Amino acid sequence: MDSRELQDLITKTKLQLLHLQSLGVEGIQLTQAASPLPVMKSVKVNAETVAPKPTPPTPPKAIAASATKSTLESLFGTTATAPERLKATGETFDDIHLDIGNCTRCPLHRDRTNICHTEGNRNARLMFVGEAPGADEDIQARPFVGRAGQLLTKIIEAIGLKREEVLIGNVNRCRPPGNRAPMPDEAAECKPFLLREIAAAQPEVIVVMGNTAMKNLLNTREGITRLRGIFQDYKGIKVMPTFHPAYLLRDPSKKRETWEDLKKVRDYLDRTAKNK
Ligand code: URA
Repeated sequence: MDSRELQDLITKTKLQLLHLQSLGVEGIQLTQAASPLPVMKSVKVNAETVAPKPTPPTPPKAIAASATKSTLESLFGTTATAPERLKATGETFDDIHLDIGNCTRCPLHRDRTNICHTEGNRNARLMFVGEAPGADEDIQARPFVGRAGQLLTKIIEAIGLKREEVLIGNVNRCRPPGNRAPMPDEAAECKPFLLREIAAAQPEVIVVMGNTAMKNLLNTREGITRLRGIFQDYKGIKVMPTFHPAYLLRDPSKKRETWEDLKKVRDYLDRTAKNK
């Protein structure tokens, strides 16, 4: 390889590493099998060092939700698989709610007063997803109507929208006792209905508020503190993780970061505005 080819390779590698870094990848383990080149000790990217460990050849750790295997593979051109896109199903919200019925699929039905379905504009470009109903929501059969909900309404208005213009839902539709987070098996029973609503409405952006919503939609083990403010992907839909409004009520200092996250959402929607 002559020096121009080597320079070209270094530039391409740097670009790929920068892209991976922007997706949240913190480290890449290189092995002889994965690379025809001699294993480098370290690669400098913007003064940060990506330090590959030569052995053992375990998969890379700490990869953000959006940097999935297919993302990595498509970056390096080793796969022909197109990223999964959300298909419209032809279902309506009414079909989905009829299917949910007087649900007894998980133990949360025992203590609920009402099921809280997703509400709002079913043609919305923007959707907000939280965890599960609280006491006020359980009584009123509507998501986000208590104190956290009132703050959410203000957040929506701060980006120039009305509450009725967006979709608002939760991973779980029945109130967990004592407002605890839903258990994984409870979330697993309820989440498919949310995903069917997302497929029916096809929003362009989903704001996931808090860890439960983020982890359930993105299937990630990362925490909200690490991923908030960074657009993620759910089957071609932009997903913005941010703090839950209930958390902002407990720690108002986090409102500034939330506002930064929501400005990114507003700017994205403005940039991509078209008549839906
Ligand atoms: N918290 C949530 O996550 N959802 C609600 O609907 C209300 C409070």
